[in-house]
Amino acid sequence: MEDLSDLYQEIILSHNKRPRNGEPLIPCTHQADGFNPLCGDKLTVYVRKPDDLVDEISCDTEGCAISRASGSIMTTLVQGKKISEIETLIEETKALLTGDEEPEIDLVQHGDMAALIGVRKFPARIKCATLAWHALESALKGEVDATTE
Ligand code: ZN
Repeated sequence: MEDLSDLYQEIILSHNKRPRNGEPLIPCTHQADGFNPLCGDKLTVYVRKPDDLVDEISCDTEGCAISRASGSIMTTLVQGKKISEIETLIEETKALLTGDEEPEIDLVQHGDMAALIGVRKFPARIKCATLAWHALESALKGEVDATTE
């Protein structure tokens, strides 16, 4: 990751070392697994959503630093938000990470997400960064599996 700026690398490594909300959430109302065969990342997203609001969320990741950081950052952004807000966030994140247009990264606006957007420079690792978001989407739809193709 030598081209990833030091700051982004620091954000990723900090989340990797101490993932936020990284423990299984049991019982939960929604759950989905994600698997990225390109890198071997595996994760499970747990959601406690008694109504229209995500009360609690966790992402238990076994994988590389980027996948672990992505899951951790995802939970901090989603916790306490309404489903409609989260759906918008998922779409925005996909566009930032995989859209054709190169996004302008603004550390103030994007916060820790800026570090994930920095992964765009490494196409082989993009799926590591999007895995948790795909699994979140599946979990909210009530699906069980989110293997990326
Ligand atoms: Zn990975």
